[in-house]
Amino acid sequence: MGWEAGSCGECDYCLHGEENVCLSARGTCTHGYGGYASAIRVDRRFVFSIPESLDSERAAPLLCGGVTVYSPLAQHVRPAMRVGVIGLGGLGHLAVQFAHAFGCEVTVFSTSPGKETEARRFGAHHFINTRDAGAMEKVANTFHFILSTVSGDVNWGDYLKALRPKGRLGMVGAPASDIRLPAFPLIIGHRAVSGSPIGSPSEIREMLEFSARNGVQPITERFPMAQVNAALDRLRSNQARYRIVLVN
Ligand SMILES: [Zn+2]
Repeated sequence: MGWEAGSCGECDYCLHGEENVCLSARGTCTHGYGGYASAIRVDRRFVFSIPESLDSERAAPLLCGGVTVYSPLAQHVRPAMRVGVIGLGGLGHLAVQFAHAFGCEVTVFSTSPGKETEARRFGAHHFINTRDAGAMEKVANTFHFILSTVSGDVNWGDYLKALRPKGRLGMVGAPASDIRLPAFPLIIGHRAVSGSPIGSPSEIREMLEFSARNGVQPITERFPMAQVNAALDRLRSNQARYRIVLVN
């Protein structure tokens, strides 16, 4: 099971297989106990069988971070599109692998030039150091879709301008501050900005099969449950590469 543990089952969204946007959706760790437990009882609609070729340690991050980036890519991206991924962390390193497997031309935007080698190993074709002001200007009107996986504040206008007309900026990272956007690139270029939460149960099943078939795998660090606080400290200090898995 992933982040979502339940939904009403009766609303328009639930009836159309979009349980992840149900207004009564319940989170695994936020609406009850059991997220860190060795056993939990849960609505069977939110439980998934894991393909044989994915071990539990790799499947766990796919069920949350994986589907969070897979869902917007699967909805908005087609083969051969130019796709940008902002940030190469827990979400970003999976987004790059999915976009590459979809057949897209993938660019990573990062403030850490040291991550270029890893970005290319995950399937990125290009790497842009966003601290280089000129680099952003060079890619104006380029991308069909840019996915933001970062929680820091960045210059969103630069990314809006990097989209080609009718392109879309998708948000799955959550910056602390409000997102400020210049109106004219949005209006003149017929561009869109959207967000999305995790993915539906049917998207999770599809994503697991896709990951198994295409070798999409999170890079994980394993901690015993008894060391959960050390794992959380490592996560808070931004040292996790790229997802931490707790083992009971
Ligand atoms: Zn519902």
